[in-house]
Amino acid sequence: MNEVDLDVRWYAGARSYRGNTVPPIQVHAATENTIILRQSIADSFEAPFLYLMFGADRALLLDTGATADAGIFPLRETVDELLDGWLRQHPKAGYELVVAHSHAHGDHVAADGQFADRALTRVVGHTADDVAGFFGVAHWPRNAALFDLGGRVLEVIPTPGHHPSAIAIYDQSTGLLLTGDSVYPGRLDVLDFPAFQASLRTLCEIAAAHPVTAVLGAHIEMSAQPGRDFPRGSTWHPDEAPLPLTALDLQTISDAATAAAGRRGAHRYRNFIIWNGPCRWETAVQFGRLLLFRVSGR
Ligand SMILES: [Zn+2]
Repeated sequence: MNEVDLDVRWYAGARSYRGNTVPPIQVHAATENTIILRQSIADSFEAPFLYLMFGADRALLLDTGATADAGIFPLRETVDELLDGWLRQHPKAGYELVVAHSHAHGDHVAADGQFADRALTRVVGHTADDVAGFFGVAHWPRNAALFDLGGRVLEVIPTPGHHPSAIAIYDQSTGLLLTGDSVYPGRLDVLDFPAFQASLRTLCEIAAAHPVTAVLGAHIEMSAQPGRDFPRGSTWHPDEAPLPLTALDLQTISDAATAAAGRRGAHRYRNFIIWNGPCRWETAVQFGRLLLFRVSGR
């Protein structure tokens, strides 16, 4: 299995860092063939993580971020540069790009349009039917499907609960499990609780059957202080919790979901919060905290 480098300091949200302008997209190579991209918190409080994975025949981009405007969020340009650089090292004619999504919320699909006119590019649709059809998932959400990038096989795992067309991706070559907004160090906002519980059981089964190097979601909303999140809407994240979660965390989240089922509200744990909404009180508290957070410095 390839060595994975997840030792990275993500920018906290300032426009400059140590005298240098912070780029709109932070790029980190976790392996030679696996790039983690993060939209700047300064431009979007969502600050989503996107993943670009190279195989011998095609690359897969998972998610297109929270901003459509290429002037603010030059995703196409960044991905083209990364692809050009990779292809210089690994020349291949007709190399394809697949643009897929962890799920279809606005902060994960906003820059799809930047890829609309790109040659050799397929953009996956947004509904569960679109996703199942593209990857060949039979009996959504019961079965997973394999998707081969060329010498690099991805397992595409339906994980509805946060969103009906949500997927996770398990990469056999690195052991990375990409979980979108279903599992990440933040407020796990559950739309369909039984589906969410079933998806967590599936992810635990995947982790029991395969080596999982790290579980990587699409946001960080927890601070390094256990149980403490940054208020929703905050564009300043000093001292964030680390992005990677573990297979053990999956089990903890699954158990927490069982405990939270049928109980509305925010269920707070060390490195995640289960948000069994709508939680009017917690939403009001978040808004108040955001105002205080802004007054107190940022
Ligand atoms: Zn999201």
